[in-house]
Amino acid sequence: MVSAGCLEAILNTLSEGVLIMDEQLLLQAVNPKAQTLFGVSGDCSRSLLEATRSIELETLARQSLERNRSEEQDITLYAAGEQQHFHVRTAPLPQGEGLAMSLAEFTRLRKLEQVRKDFAANVSHELRTPIQLIKGFAETLLDSLPEDTERIRHYLGIILKNAQTMEHLTADLLTLVSLEEGDRIPFAMQETLVYPLLQEAADLVEPAARKKNITLSLNCPADLKAVLYGPFIIQGAINLLDNGVKYSPEGSKVRLEATAQAGELVIAVRDKGIGIAPRHLKRIFERFYRVDPARSRSHGGAGLGLAIVRHIASIHRGVAEAESHAGEGSIFRIRIPLK
Ligand code: ADP
Repeated sequence: MVSAGCLEAILNTLSEGVLIMDEQLLLQAVNPKAQTLFGVSGDCSRSLLEATRSIELETLARQSLERNRSEEQDITLYAAGEQQHFHVRTAPLPQGEGLAMSLAEFTRLRKLEQVRKDFAANVSHELRTPIQLIKGFAETLLDSLPEDTERIRHYLGIILKNAQTMEHLTADLLTLVSLEEGDRIPFAMQETLVYPLLQEAADLVEPAARKKNITLSLNCPADLKAVLYGPFIIQGAINLLDNGVKYSPEGSKVRLEATAQAGELVIAVRDKGIGIAPRHLKRIFERFYRVDPARSRSHGGAGLGLAIVRHIASIHRGVAEAESHAGEGSIFRIRIPLK
């Protein structure tokens, strides 16, 4: 036979909320988790309804007592100041003495499910337009006269551009997947010189900048070192530089800098482009978020570039942030602790 002290210790360690009540549904014992959830004390003698303010919980408890059997149900409650989802189980106590009820929270799981559903929907949505265009223009090509070479070239150009959009999207998706894998299997971080990484990123963006007559500059102390995963720092800098070029007018300037400031490595990209209005600024690091979808799509962007940058900062225990004023350009920073 387990002692009362032992039972209490077990209840205290549970991550589920547990409520024990008599046959009138007056609370007899409430474990610490349930106390925090409902803001009640352990020795309260309130009813289940008073303590939880949930008619659903009360109905489930009554039903369980009447039928004298365990019941289970998913219930959404307003607990600990927010809406939370619980899997609730009841068990009548022996000799009709009352009821035990446990609440296992699965809010995070529900949110993750939603994120996954939204993600799949967004990816399909992003792929639909280029696929339809490729299909449509391939059909038109089949019906074209072979001698109409100019028209054929035009259609092939559209097909190529849309294939590139899909290539871009799948590359971004693969990067996100490998970043997420890194949450489980940490990347091999090592002390690295920053300059060569940024130089590589700048070199890769240079052709796009040249097309718009944009000057790219790089400013970074040659001996600046940090513990980094090089390939992702290059990727992060490319994404920021690429945006700087995409969202700046012809002949503009885009600057890439890195410094050590207050114990942090700060990688910054500054442009004098179209800028971002405050209402968009707080959302631009979200996946698939675009200020002007039509404009961004015309550049082949799916709104994943900055989500990738944020993830790259976070695997380095750092943050990504943006500062901008519409019409005055933007500054994007990746800040990574040096220690
Ligand atoms: P995209 O691939 O669409 O460029 P990002 O995630 O890189 O996606 O950026 C999200 C959105 O943030 C862009 O659609 C754009 O509206 C805005 N944005 C990003 N960088 C800049 C910038 N340097 N200047 C102005 N707007 C920007």
